[in-house]
Amino acid sequence: MWRAKATIDFEFADFNKGNYIESVAKKDDSETISKVLYPNDTYVEGKFLRLKQQYFFVSATLQDIIRKYKIKHSSFEQFADKTCIQLNDTHPVVAIPELMRILIDDENLSWDKAWDITSKTFAYTNHTVVPEALEEWSEQIFSNLLPRHLQIIYEINRRFVEKVRQEYTKDEAVIEKLSIISGGKDKRVRMANLAIVGSFAVNGVAALHTNILKKRIFPDFNKIYPKKFINVTNGITPRRWLITANPLLSQLLIERIGFDWAKDLTQIKKIEKFVEDKEFTEQWQKIKFNNKLALIELIEKEHDIKINPESIFDVQIKRFHEYKRQLLNVFHIITLYNRIKHNPKIKMVPRTIIFSGKAAPAYYAAKMVIKLINSVADVVNNDPDVGDKLKVVFLKNYSVSLAEKIIPASDLSEQISMAGLEASGTGNMKFALNGALTIGTMDGANVEIREEVGDENIFIFGLLADEVVKLKSNGYNPREYYEKNSNLKHIVDMIATNFFNPKEFGIFDDMIRGLMNVDYYLLFADYQSYIDTQDKVAKFYTDKYEWTKKSILNVARMAKFSSDRSVKEYAEKIWKVKPVKINRQ
Ligand SMILES: *Cc1c(COP(=O)(O)O)cnc(C)c1O
Repeated sequence: MWRAKATIDFEFADFNKGNYIESVAKKDDSETISKVLYPNDTYVEGKFLRLKQQYFFVSATLQDIIRKYKIKHSSFEQFADKTCIQLNDTHPVVAIPELMRILIDDENLSWDKAWDITSKTFAYTNHTVVPEALEEWSEQIFSNLLPRHLQIIYEINRRFVEKVRQEYTKDEAVIEKLSIISGGKDKRVRMANLAIVGSFAVNGVAALHTNILKKRIFPDFNKIYPKKFINVTNGITPRRWLITANPLLSQLLIERIGFDWAKDLTQIKKIEKFVEDKEFTEQWQKIKFNNKLALIELIEKEHDIKINPESIFDVQIKRFHEYKRQLLNVFHIITLYNRIKHNPKIKMVPRTIIFSGKAAPAYYAAKMVIKLINSVADVVNNDPDVGDKLKVVFLKNYSVSLAEKIIPASDLSEQISMAGLEASGTGNMKFALNGALTIGTMDGANVEIREEVGDENIFIFGLLADEVVKLKSNGYNPREYYEKNSNLKHIVDMIATNFFNPKEFGIFDDMIRGLMNVDYYLLFADYQSYIDTQDKVAKFYTDKYEWTKKSILNVARMAKFSSDRSVKEYAEKIWKVKPVKINRQ
């Protein structure tokens, strides 16, 4: 929507003096502001340019909102009534002091009037509880770029803390946690705290996530403002993720139940009555098979691998982050590989394990997981003992367009994050809407997917969010799991002794050290439960009829996960707006 553009192309004086580079440096520098976004996901660096970008986009948007408001209104009396600004994560939270600044400095309102308007205008959506992703700005960076805003933030905090002392607690340890400015010598501005204090509503993006926000991340804020915290579970659009991505399945649905589900996904439950219909079931299977053939064609264009379309298409596509535990999936692959090597004649359900996803540019540990996947793939795919029982594929350049091609061809959806860390997930919903069954932890929206599809139509494993906290507080020792589980030990030893990387000795040493000494994301603790559940998946897959029935029931019970439902909840619970009828010619 907004782009930074220099008003002066170059400094003519510099140019005339022969300073050709300097003559365009200022133009270049100013236009850098909107050139690239930081590609980090669930990690923030306190970089000056990022704060500049945030302020640039926020300022442009607020100016535009106020310009439009002033066309119809001559005072700010109705501003909060007519305007709601939904803060999508903490990235635009500088909008709170910016609106205060505009109302006080430019529009001459009193502090109290300006605060009354501001705190009734903003609502904040939290998207993660991963600590490295919670934005904090050093006071120094903030005061260099936005000294007036910092002054306003200090005053917001002074009044807030005073109120807390009067009405809530005098416990300085609690007050320090609530404060918008973190104490100590190295003072920092906590953007989430500012967002909560400055907004009239705060929401999480799945039921479990909202509970964790209330109970674990912001318990004192929740006591001070008990009605402020609400849940709006995320959703996905059936237009992109069914109609566009999966035309074959969409056509079958249209033939049986019409097209109403496209605009009202609650209608999709009508296909539930066909679960026992032989012709419908066979068409369903044929569509999945054809989608798998199309994906095989795409894969074989880039990789010299022969893929068996009868194999389970077992798929994990998402950003690479340690908490998402792609490495646990790799442990399963090596487990299967070891079974084959132990007995090359073993009968097993063939699997094709597909990964795609990007790691943040400087996230070394996540990049090493990608490296390990490709190393394991090299060994597994070229071992004659393996044949077509097991294949591993890593597809580069993950994007929405690639996701649209992979998801309709998937049988199994890997949603295996450490419980308590995936705020919602939306990949989980896209897969289920396309008839893939989920193997997953009780995390994010997986919990609600299970509630909708029924326990018998999803494969749940692993520690619960509360059990994760308990295990860690009791002193988790990964070595105990390593010593007690010979299969797990074998896998870790293989990686540690360079089995998959004979030409690149030692490259996984850091990974192994991290696992053996800390295993922050509890891979060892969840390993056996994951393997047992994967074995259950394979067993169910051999009963094609039962599998297809579960697949149909997953799709039939996805109504809740339409983004239309999410948007409607924002409209009703937060924005207090009603639908408007649009008259088209
Ligand atoms: C849906 C989607 C995501 C989110 O996936 P999760 O599994 O929920 O993390 C990320 N990237 C792309 C390209 C997507 O389409």
